[in-house]
Amino acid sequence: MQDMINQLWNTPQTQKMLKSMGVPMGEKLSREKKMWSGFPFADEYFVVFSQNNAEQIAECIFSGGGNIYLKDDVAQKIIFQESAKHYARKLESDVINDGQKIKGVVFDASGFTKVSELETLYSTIHNLLTKLQRNAKIVVIAKSLAAANSYEEASISTAIKGFIKSLSKEVGNKGITANLLYIEKNSVFKNALSFFLSDSSVYVTGQQTLVEEVNKKDRVDCFTPQILSGKTALVTGASRGIGEKICDALTREGAKVIALDRVQEASNLEKVCLRNQATPLYADLNEADSATKISQWLQENTSGLDIVVHNAGITRDKTLKKMSQESWKDTLRINLEAVIELNTKLEKDILKQKSKIVCLSSIAGLAGNFGQTNYAASKAGLVGYIEYFTKNAKRKDIQINAVAPGFIETSMTEKIPFVTKEVARRFSSLMQGGLPEDVAELVAFLASPHSNGTNGQVIRVCGGNLIGA
Ligand code: NAD
Repeated sequence: MQDMINQLWNTPQTQKMLKSMGVPMGEKLSREKKMWSGFPFADEYFVVFSQNNAEQIAECIFSGGGNIYLKDDVAQKIIFQESAKHYARKLESDVINDGQKIKGVVFDASGFTKVSELETLYSTIHNLLTKLQRNAKIVVIAKSLAAANSYEEASISTAIKGFIKSLSKEVGNKGITANLLYIEKNSVFKNALSFFLSDSSVYVTGQQTLVEEVNKKDRVDCFTPQILSGKTALVTGASRGIGEKICDALTREGAKVIALDRVQEASNLEKVCLRNQATPLYADLNEADSATKISQWLQENTSGLDIVVHNAGITRDKTLKKMSQESWKDTLRINLEAVIELNTKLEKDILKQKSKIVCLSSIAGLAGNFGQTNYAASKAGLVGYIEYFTKNAKRKDIQINAVAPGFIETSMTEKIPFVTKEVARRFSSLMQGGLPEDVAELVAFLASPHSNGTNGQVIRVCGGNLIGA
């Protein structure tokens, strides 16, 4: 799973040659500081503009170890000052010291009622672009369309989406991401903000995520370590690629993982389990009675499930003209039908109240892709499924979301022909493929109480891939 051009780029002689050929190459992405590892923002500076949400933004940045340059015209300055004192962090006015590079920008536009106010968004980000460090994070907060109270507010809500999508394409060559959080009046968005400001979201850009209101008892502190301790998680397709990294991330956050794969993958699966002290579970999701068998095993061997990650998936690529019935059948069965069957069984038998489900969709499902009618249908099917699920499965207050990876370096993408692979990697805002751990970080966020309030969403982890963006 090697990005050969990336390797050539790291050698001065070949880098020169690639540059002269005009090969697009992205910035090295910083993946070292994970969201929950101590203080991910230690000694970094963020620029903040917010009239209404001082408490949440201050808690997010200061508790993560960061410091703030506050825009001068912010109404709730006193709250920022008190919070800075509480966390012993620095709060500066918005005159940025010479040479100071900025790690992130938080621009809260949720109070905007007039289109003309968007000019502040333009000027704030416009003036900061040269001061952002590589791999910086821009997050804009806006009122959700459903929460809009006027024609102007509704148009502001979607105008910001257009702004963010375009901005993400302009800043991607420096490894900078730009994302949008849609909120309602009383949304607790500080944890989602923590994720999108941290390096855990390094390959997520140009996305909009809705954070709905939650009950007081469902609120959690930002950066709670080991937030999944005491939780049991089932991960399908766990023996390699993205599934393997999901097991690592969930274990790191304290979950007890049950790692499912086919018996043919036993040697890899045993290694993943040994490393994570996880329990292997052998099942073939292509078999008609797999859901029943899995549920039965779980009932006999666990006291309930808190997290399910439907990661197992296959590709059987061919144009529709050349596609065999078997390729169609297997892909729809494993990627979609098995997910629905297993969820239905687990929800009835073993899923606990307030459990979290994460499905692996794909940008191919959102945008379609040549030679992937079967795969795209299966992955698009998951989108409709989670939408229906959020509306109809309120019984246990289960939260379900999907992630839609773009080009991720795994054995699945290894099979793609060289030129197609290069195009898929480079034609994205970040100009490179993602790593399985990039997807795993988003899954871990969605599997944890940090994502409370985010339900029925499909979040792309695609580096701003141009397919359907
Ligand atoms: P992968 O091929 O490396 O791993 C897939 C895993 O699923 C393997 O462990 C495999 O053994 C397991 N699996 C396959 N069929 C199974 C079955 N019948 N029963 C049980 N397990 C089975 O793939 P990956 O790249 O790690 O992809 C993981 C998920 O992410 C898939 O759902 C895939 O569609 C999705 N995805 C991947 C990419 C990418 O670029 N790699 C992009 C978009 C979406």
